[in-house]
Amino acid sequence: MQPVSVVRCAEYDIDRVEAAVRQALTLLGGMERFVQPGQRVLIKPNLLQPSDPARAIVTHPAVLRAVVRLAQEAGGQVLIADNPAVVPLTPRGWDSAYEKSGWAAVAAETGARLNREIVPQQRPHPEGRLIKRVDTSHFVTEADVVISVPKLKTHELMRYTGAVKNLFGTVPGATKFGYHVKLQTADRFAEMLLDLVSFVRPALTVMDAVVGMDGDGPSAGRPFPIGAILASADAVALDVAALTLVGHEPTTVPTVAKAVHRSWTSGRVSELEVRGEDLRGFGVRGFQLPAGRRATSGHMPAWLQQWGTRLLNASPVVGERCVGCGLCVENCPAQTIALVEGKARIRLADCIRCYCCHELCPEHAIELQQPALRPVMERMLGARRSLRARL
Ligand code: SF4
Ligand code: SF4
Repeated sequence: MQPVSVVRCAEYDIDRVEAAVRQALTLLGGMERFVQPGQRVLIKPNLLQPSDPARAIVTHPAVLRAVVRLAQEAGGQVLIADNPAVVPLTPRGWDSAYEKSGWAAVAAETGARLNREIVPQQRPHPEGRLIKRVDTSHFVTEADVVISVPKLKTHELMRYTGAVKNLFGTVPGATKFGYHVKLQTADRFAEMLLDLVSFVRPALTVMDAVVGMDGDGPSAGRPFPIGAILASADAVALDVAALTLVGHEPTTVPTVAKAVHRSWTSGRVSELEVRGEDLRGFGVRGFQLPAGRRATSGHMPAWLQQWGTRLLNASPVVGERCVGCGLCVENCPAQTIALVEGKARIRLADCIRCYCCHELCPEHAIELQQPALRPVMERMLGARRSLRARL
């Protein structure tokens, strides 16, 4: 595993953030290790949905700005790009997304280019465990160097989104829906994400953990002050460090658990080379991860998976706040949402529990109701596992 640098940064003051990112890179040998003069550098932050950075949904512009400046100082030509799910792909849609997230100001100040088109591409990926052909975007294949700049957040499907999950944003717009339909368990989704890591091969990841998000992430949780910038050339190692930082066992997150199976990591922070601050010294307490989809992810026979998906995982329920905007209808991979009398209505029988609707609803009108059967079934599965362990 590559080293992970950890630097304190308690607020989004642009000078302090730049100093912290600079220090995080110095601890890894400097940006010059990753970017050579004249290279085309893709900076891939998180633009899940255009929103005020204070809501902690997008990578904060102060962190983005600092990474852009360091890449430019090393001589890179920077393009900033992501595949946001809810941006109309029109000049006005892009402008408004970049304005709202504060990234337009970063581009204006630094001269970095902001991507305004998505050209979907497919590429062979023979080393992929699960996906041998990858759906990607032109901005990935045209880059000499990829720098990923995720935000530390929770995620209803995968429990956590950070360095590895941020790369799902390289898959073009609606193509993502197909991945949700085909890969309905958290384990299979995690395998796909790891295949994206081995395809995209980010040279560097710089994580915005100044203020993260816990609870109902990645868009409806609460902003959670953490006070750190992390960096590494190894996306998995960085996630192991970030999960430890917020007080959680890394291997409870499917992407880390699957990376352990691939021998990419031991999943143990004790085996990480952490440079800079001591992770435990931050004293982060009370950062809540969602339950996620572990009930159907790993110990259940395949024939039970579909049944388990319905009975053991939370169901999306439309609440009073729905204004009938139709975004969830357009973005449901299973096409199981309709507008009825100006409100969204979900046909749960066909719902694959991907939680895209919960993630994307701008009104946070979709709640997730935990099924009453889940604790009983988890106890039964636990008993089955310990019986198998004894045999
Ligand atoms: S649930 Fe949310 S996304 Fe769906 S129609 Fe209502 S307000 Fe729009
Ligand atoms: S209703 Fe929501 S959770 Fe169910 S398949 Fe559609 S987007 Fe996914």
